[in-house]
Amino acid sequence: MTLFKSILPVDERGFYGHFGGAYIPEVLHGNIKRLREAFYSYAADPEFNAEFDRLMRDYVGRPSPLFRADNLSELYGTNIYLKREDLNHTGAHKINNAIGSALLARRMGKHRIIAETGAGQHGVATATVCALLGLECVVYMGALDVERQQPNVQRMKMLGARVEPVYSGNRTLKDATNEAIRDWCNNPDSFYIIGSTVGPHPYPEMVAHFQSVISREMREQLLRHTGNELPDCVIACVGGGSNAAGAFYHFINEPSVRLIAAEAAGKGVDTDMTAATIHAGREGIIHGSRTLVMQTADGQIVEPYSISAGLDYPGIGPLHAWLHESGRTEVIAVTDSEALSAAMTITRREGIIPALESAHALAVLDRVKFAPDATVVVNVSGRGDKDLHTYLNSNCQ
Ligand SMILES: *Cc1c(COP(=O)(O)O)cnc(C)c1O
Repeated sequence: MTLFKSILPVDERGFYGHFGGAYIPEVLHGNIKRLREAFYSYAADPEFNAEFDRLMRDYVGRPSPLFRADNLSELYGTNIYLKREDLNHTGAHKINNAIGSALLARRMGKHRIIAETGAGQHGVATATVCALLGLECVVYMGALDVERQQPNVQRMKMLGARVEPVYSGNRTLKDATNEAIRDWCNNPDSFYIIGSTVGPHPYPEMVAHFQSVISREMREQLLRHTGNELPDCVIACVGGGSNAAGAFYHFINEPSVRLIAAEAAGKGVDTDMTAATIHAGREGIIHGSRTLVMQTADGQIVEPYSISAGLDYPGIGPLHAWLHESGRTEVIAVTDSEALSAAMTITRREGIIPALESAHALAVLDRVKFAPDATVVVNVSGRGDKDLHTYLNSNCQ
């Protein structure tokens, strides 16, 4: 049998340099081992991949367009292309991974799916795919997020998922993830769909693989637009790192392509209201992997803050910790107000209302100057409908 071979620099224990691995409770060892075996065999299975490709095309609406943003290009004096993940079914890149993972769950004979969610995008994507494939779905969500993301809670309920509010910690994403892992320990027959490139091996690798469709399409589309598959720069926002992993994937081994990750500075990296894990974190273990974590001197996890619920996470995927440490990516911390201003710029100049998360990537254009003949791709990870309330309350008009 052929096994899937990663193009990422990951070893068989799931380490990118010294980041990654699988730090899990004993009860999950069997589960993680079976998941690893299933992923590495199905990811190389033509039938599995044909089904994934069919759903990407006919259900999600892929390929998502690569749009030359003429007005932004003129404003910034360079050539800006937007990868439109906001146009996917359910409105963000999360659906790519939800479909890949749910197909894998079905092949493994699983009937019950567990997920965690922050802003609700991953919860909605998972509930959507579960409705499609006839799987039971339980979504853990911090009680604070349940309050501030009501439209997504209602969508999940309409899709037939059970939404479980989590009241521990600061009642956001980290706490929801803890609870989802606890459920999995109690129900090892269930399948856990993680929403980002985080968690124990093989999750970071698996999620990056399902999201890599983004950069695979970019290469084909750039060739058509510019005559060259390679851009000069790709920019993406990083929460746990899945849209950035997908946007960077097929360029990681192309040294001429500059990769810029935008993390959420919140009120500023030097304040205690930030989610800029790469700037403010230290090495530690969170949710099953060794990575950079925002923590106190004695190792207590610091509650993160960002205006964007999807970037409000105290860790970062091990792939990104390594890409940063090895110098392959540049990481720029973008504040709430810089993101709001960038969201307004693209809305008024291109008629595209981006997710607040994606606005962090767009804000890099205000910070970095590119050559007039450069090709710059910004990954627009999602649409902004869920954020209208925040935009309108921050005098963004
Ligand atoms: C969830 C989300 C993110 C952040 O998650 P990553 O795993 O870092 O991509 C970014 N953008 C949107 C639209 C999201 O829904």
